[in-house]
Amino acid sequence: MATNFSKELVVKPGEKVRLAKWDPEDTLGWEKGHKTKVDLEKSLAKLDKLQYLLYAEHKHALLIVLQGIDAAGKDGTIRHVMAGVNPQGCTVTPFKTPTPEEAAHDFLWRIHKAVPEHGDIGIFNRSHYEDVLVVRVHNLVPKDVWSRRYKQINEFEKTLSENNVKILKFFLHISQDEQRKRFEERIDEPQRRWKISQSDFDERKFWDEYMAAYEDALAKCSTEQAPWYIIPANKKWFRNLAVSHIITETLEDMHMKFPAPTVDVKQLKWK
Ligand code: AMP
Ligand code: MG
Repeated sequence: MATNFSKELVVKPGEKVRLAKWDPEDTLGWEKGHKTKVDLEKSLAKLDKLQYLLYAEHKHALLIVLQGIDAAGKDGTIRHVMAGVNPQGCTVTPFKTPTPEEAAHDFLWRIHKAVPEHGDIGIFNRSHYEDVLVVRVHNLVPKDVWSRRYKQINEFEKTLSENNVKILKFFLHISQDEQRKRFEERIDEPQRRWKISQSDFDERKFWDEYMAAYEDALAKCSTEQAPWYIIPANKKWFRNLAVSHIITETLEDMHMKFPAPTVDVKQLKWK
């Protein structure tokens, strides 16, 4: 089945976002099973080859931003989608509550430092978007401060993209019921209990506020050079399929080439 995942799931620049209209159960007609599994394996193999080319060409970096509510599957996406890529050439940076040093700088300071170098794929597990999400929901800074950040983020991302950093942003969209189910699994399964935190349960009460903050971030900051994708993520297999397809579609569109050899291989002499 030829699905253009990027086109189907992108937030068009300037488009208003109402998350209630994006179904977290959607699978774009795909079904769980052998065929889909084979397709994912093919897509991951393609990703491995494209990363090799990105690394060899050394001209562009790829920055992947992962956002989503607690239990949306950020860690799982990294584990499954990046499983096949060469660790040399890939960085993963989780962003937590800012340290005192980070908090003493502008909100983009720690982000800019973690941007991947040319040739690399960098994955952000949470990102500068927390500064218009958790910060907004909990009034950690006044409204006139966070409300200016959308523009600052767009300018920052534009600067990166003009300097050969390709940016992809994924919002992993789950329903409130699915989040509850996943929290219950974490409680029931001893090997998952370590993942539960009190804050997960406290944050659940702010679901509507988070959705409103996400809607604004997705609408205001989906641009030509740094698009947001809304990934229906209730079904983990579809989430992995969609994310891996969008990454490979993007890398293919970059028309990368292997650099010319620095030596004339015919002239090489054995000693
Ligand atoms: P986790 O990703 O589950 O390990 O949790 C990281 C926590 O850090 C989450 O509760 C985030 O909301 C929080 N966090 C990340 N960035 C920021 C930020 N800029 N300001 C405040 N809290 C943040
Ligand atoms: Mg968590």
